[in-house]
Amino acid sequence: MLKRYRYRAYPTGEQQHALSQLFGCCRVVFNDALAARESARRACRPIPSKGELSAALTAAKTTPERAWLAEVSSVPLQQSLADLHRAYANFFDSRTGKRKGRKVGAPRFKKRTHRQSARFTRNAGVGVLEPGGGSGFVRLPKIGRVRYESSRPLPVDPSSVTVIREADGRHYVSFVVDEPVPVVVLPESASARCAGIDVGLTDLAVIVYDDGTREKIDNPRWLRSKERGLARAQRAYSRTMKGSRNRDKARRRVAVTHRKVRETRWDHHHKLALRLVRENQAVALEGLSVAGLARTRVAKSVHDAGWSTLTRLIVEKAARYGAVVHTIGRWEPTSQVCAGCGVQDGKKPLDVRVWVCPSCGLVLDRDYNAAVNVLLAAGLVERVNACGGSVRRVLACADPVKQEPAEQTAPSGGAA
Ligand SMILES: [Zn+2]
Repeated sequence: MLKRYRYRAYPTGEQQHALSQLFGCCRVVFNDALAARESARRACRPIPSKGELSAALTAAKTTPERAWLAEVSSVPLQQSLADLHRAYANFFDSRTGKRKGRKVGAPRFKKRTHRQSARFTRNAGVGVLEPGGGSGFVRLPKIGRVRYESSRPLPVDPSSVTVIREADGRHYVSFVVDEPVPVVVLPESASARCAGIDVGLTDLAVIVYDDGTREKIDNPRWLRSKERGLARAQRAYSRTMKGSRNRDKARRRVAVTHRKVRETRWDHHHKLALRLVRENQAVALEGLSVAGLARTRVAKSVHDAGWSTLTRLIVEKAARYGAVVHTIGRWEPTSQVCAGCGVQDGKKPLDVRVWVCPSCGLVLDRDYNAAVNVLLAAGLVERVNACGGSVRRVLACADPVKQEPAEQTAPSGGAA
């Protein structure tokens, strides 16, 4: 299984300079090749092949305008061309439907102010040294030995190393290693439970367990709380003059705010995903179309909650800890069916948090009810029933105290 290990790198001033030059060269090679393809397409000439573009790069190194390309390692430049081919292949595959998922756009020109990267393969003469103590060194041709902070040692020699400079100016090294997935076997008793998860906007996740317990994980909305700071940074950025030093500084501040949001979100997701696969034998999830939802009006909240990341992390961690993940169909009407009696009550607007089943009169919490339905749809129904017939009613109802049909039909307040 291919895995990525990413560490923060601390190049010296001199190395930063050399890296800058390398990033610039990779960007120019990518952009030149993109321009060559695009002009060929516009002129209705045949698209230059991989070999032709590679030959054009070699030829460019001998011209005075591009002679500086010869000053850096040639491997990342070739990798840059490979990236362009991959980008085109993804774009065409996406257009013809060969590639599933979100639509992929045509490759675009790389900018100096965005994230920069250069990839070295194993045969480029890359060496990794990890003396321990949290320090690591990677030897890169024509750059030197770059120090990075190693939080855990690489299991095997990496097949490639990518050096990255993020928009906020931080450097990272990202190693690709091929390692077998170690399955951590947990004690039997610790993971006999099953969990059904419904992800939402009001709460990040609503979880029900087949032992009759349930919980709501709050959606922290980091982005919303940091939005004012971000807006201020962006305003300051837009007021600066193009090409000025202050503009560069302001751009970096915007990037730093974005990074902080990203890191906090990741931390939260990792912890939640780990807890779920550690404490449960099986986890049932809904296969959501995040790309579809993100185009609607709730887009910002959807991206903020980072559903797809959470789902991916649960799947990855489950493989490692030997838990089973059940993904149920996207079109399963989990929020329309009463988990108590199975009656389908039709679609409900998003603001309906609590509803009463017309058939059995159970007062249902929209999110808990959906989570129970996820659990049931995943085929874990026997397990739920084994704990007593009323367990699903308890799990799905709006107020655990009122298990029996409630008198009032218009419950006040939202879901607690
Ligand atoms: Zn019912």
